[in-house]
Amino acid sequence: MSESIPLSLSDVHALASATLRANGISDEQSQALADTVTAAERDGCKSHGLFRIPAYVQSARNGLVNPVAVPSVHDLAPGVIQVDAHNGFAPLALRVGREPLVEKTTSQGIAALGLINSCHIAALWPEVEALAERGLVAFAFVTAASYVAPAGGTKPLFGTNPMAFAWPRPDGKPPLVFDQASSASARGEIMLHQRDGKPLPEGWAIDADGQPTTDPAAALAGAQLPFGGYKGAAIALMVELLAGALIGGPFSFEVSQMDKKDGSLPPRGEFIITIDPGHCVSADNKTAQLAHAEALFSRMLEQPGTRLPADRRYQMRQITPTEGITIPRTLFEQIKNLQQV
Ligand code: NDP
Repeated sequence: MSESIPLSLSDVHALASATLRANGISDEQSQALADTVTAAERDGCKSHGLFRIPAYVQSARNGLVNPVAVPSVHDLAPGVIQVDAHNGFAPLALRVGREPLVEKTTSQGIAALGLINSCHIAALWPEVEALAERGLVAFAFVTAASYVAPAGGTKPLFGTNPMAFAWPRPDGKPPLVFDQASSASARGEIMLHQRDGKPLPEGWAIDADGQPTTDPAAALAGAQLPFGGYKGAAIALMVELLAGALIGGPFSFEVSQMDKKDGSLPPRGEFIITIDPGHCVSADNKTAQLAHAEALFSRMLEQPGTRLPADRRYQMRQITPTEGITIPRTLFEQIKNLQQV
């Protein structure tokens, strides 16, 4: 029997959506989650595709997440909105907050969104890419749970705390986007190495005694390392402050105190900043900005071996809608079993 199952992207969406709905997750929440999971599979981001369905289901089953939450938007200041997910999943809350954020940014020049009480187990590129498609520059920051040791330390404190950035491009080109954890790897990558019986690259983690390890189980029991030593740790610290203290959300270690250690993840915060490029230059210079950026990208790509961040995803996007994707049979069966409630 084949070890993997081929699926079309509509199969992925249907499988995700049916499983989420079977577990009492509202149609709106299920639809937004299934869209995110399908986008991740479409773009070859396995650690945030169907692999995450068990965590979504577990979070709803154990009561950490409200599966029928309806997010609400609050106007906090001329340039700031808050979206309260009311302990629901992030994708629906982000969808609800997008138009008010775009509206504030295009009228003010710069705006911010604080997303509170949301379960965010996804990648950040979907939210910043969608904002850049509206012509905005966008930054996003999310805390996680205590997984990463501070520089020089040996015990988990920070989350894997990703930050993402998106820049709009002219002539119908998809935005430039980078989206990266402040740890040497996303936690999902360690879990995938564990599932596949593969050792970790050096420098990703230390064990519970603070010794370097390439064993995924020892890494999950110990601490992940920031990327680039103290430099990645400083970014993780910044993300804690922006997506935690600044918007009234918990720090990653406080999220861990609520963790039920069953694969689910308690709600927490995300901070998004958006800038309308047209407000950042004088009126006679408005059209020059994007062309100027293109000149930088061209100069960069003249060097063999370079590529723009997100180009790997965009290339996958050319292939998967026709060729589909594969997932391990064990994952497929695990997800089907979750439909039996
Ligand atoms: P990667 O290290 O795989 O990639 C980071 C970024 O670098 C991507 O934008 C990637 O673009 C780009 N990149 C990679 N290689 C190159 C290259 N050779 N040249 C130019 N750009 C390159 O990501 P991480 O492992 O750090 O994070 C994975 C995901 O996990 C992220 O989406 C993140 O948001 C998510 N995450 C979510 C968390 C949560 O709690 N919600 C917590 C931690 C992480 P490309 O995609 O095109 O390869």
